[in-house]
Amino acid sequence: MDYTRADWAKRASGLTFRSQAFIGGKFVDAISGETFQSINPATDAVLADVASCGAADVDRAVTAARSAFEAGVWSRVDPGHRKAVLLKLADLIRENLEEFALLDSLDMGKLVTDAATIDAPGSAQFFQWYAEAIDKVYDEVAPTGPGDLALVSRVPLGVVGAVTPWNFPLDMATWKAAAALAAGNSVVLKPAEQSPLSALRLAELAVEAGVPDGVFNVVPGYGHTAGQALGMHNDVDCLAFTGSTAIGKKFMEYSGQSNMKQVWPETGGKSPNLVFADCENLDAAADMAAFGIFFNQGEVCSANSRLYVERSIKDAFVDKLIERAQGMQPGDPLDPASKMGAMVDRTQTEGVMRFIEAGKQTARLATGGEQVQVDGKGCFVQPTIFDDVAHEDPLARDEIFGPVLSVIPFDSEDDAIRMANDSIYGLAASVWTDNLGRALRVSDRLMAGTVSVNTVDALSAMTPFGGMKQSGFGRDLSLHSFDKYTALKTTWIKYAT
Ligand code: NAD
Repeated sequence: MDYTRADWAKRASGLTFRSQAFIGGKFVDAISGETFQSINPATDAVLADVASCGAADVDRAVTAARSAFEAGVWSRVDPGHRKAVLLKLADLIRENLEEFALLDSLDMGKLVTDAATIDAPGSAQFFQWYAEAIDKVYDEVAPTGPGDLALVSRVPLGVVGAVTPWNFPLDMATWKAAAALAAGNSVVLKPAEQSPLSALRLAELAVEAGVPDGVFNVVPGYGHTAGQALGMHNDVDCLAFTGSTAIGKKFMEYSGQSNMKQVWPETGGKSPNLVFADCENLDAAADMAAFGIFFNQGEVCSANSRLYVERSIKDAFVDKLIERAQGMQPGDPLDPASKMGAMVDRTQTEGVMRFIEAGKQTARLATGGEQVQVDGKGCFVQPTIFDDVAHEDPLARDEIFGPVLSVIPFDSEDDAIRMANDSIYGLAASVWTDNLGRALRVSDRLMAGTVSVNTVDALSAMTPFGGMKQSGFGRDLSLHSFDKYTALKTTWIKYAT
């Protein structure tokens, strides 16, 4: 795709936004008639007035999802049929790739080029992967004695509620919906209020691909209204959540207060990146350390926000990072030359700036540290590096969820591992070394759902993604994701021998 800024801007100006809820295969207003504004954080322009769903709308969506499930139009069809439909959906996402890229970029500020080369193709690929998997997963026969046949099968749960964040709107919706739908469930998705547009278009295309009405519903709205109503609903069987740790805990409470639905939280992170002096290619390590914190404006759950560098190479390594950070200044998200986009909204920008201002008093600001505008508009934050951060400093402990890197020197392997693990989070970690023994030893001891060695943020449809500790315990991606969306059922048959 060889688009210029002007090409993207022209396409953007011709877009129409789906702004109603999608329930039972149709776009409908919220019952209350209420709406909220979807705002482009790069320009402050209002994109659309989106239906603001409440408990009554969520109830309507859950009812539609339940009746589709009970009718068996999706839950009890041949897996080969679900495969064909979801493959068609993957094709439709590819056919509408530029539109999806623009929807996410305009809605939450990410670079349109990243959305067009990473997020949207990723969504198509994940739908394809689960579609292809679903007619190849076998069930079990238990080793009972003669006269007994015990079948252990995976059955869909029923109605899956999904509540997703704004940092990868299309992909987070996809991670939940692709696996849940492939397994035969009905889905009610509540996207983040900051970025509902791509999910609404996705649901529309799902119906075009052949997903029956009511099987995939989208209820845009606020967390404390639509999100809470879904979490508390007595006819939702499973709630897959991605977002902050605080709200993940709330969903566990909602479950306890309602029908004990399964809750799968995938929550925050403060991922450590450990660079040892025996890493031969320090330039590659610096490139990826910068990518690991500045990609997507640092609004990445697994962002490598804590950088532990062996003291003997720390100053030289920080110099490399400063050079890279300075080359990644924010710009218009629609300009392919921009290296970083806009922050999602004012609230998030202000939160990130509070950390930065406090950090200026407690650590050494190596580069960045300012909120900026592009063409006199929008919410942008410079790529920021703090050096010599104390282990106890909030900069090193709290999830900032912005382009802010904290550098901490270490003196020994044990020291690095101890500090890396001393966190309430355990989502991801990275290790840079050319010593194989060290790579394995350190990976073994790091408490993280994914450890990347000599790279950052390794991720694919084939490998599970999720956390330890307060990063949650749900797993997206890979066949293991089906564990969340299916129940194991035993059917025991006695027969004469
Ligand atoms: P958030 O927790 O504020 O919101 C996530 C979702 O929960 C949104 O849809 C929101 O509307 C809803 N919500 C908010 N309050 C609610 C309430 N009281 N009841 C019910 N629902 C409610 O998170 P965010 O700001 O959208 O996203 C950033 C967070 O997401 C970060 O902590 C990040 O680490 C995390 N995240 C985790 C992963 C992962 O896979 N572990 C991936 C992406 C983002």
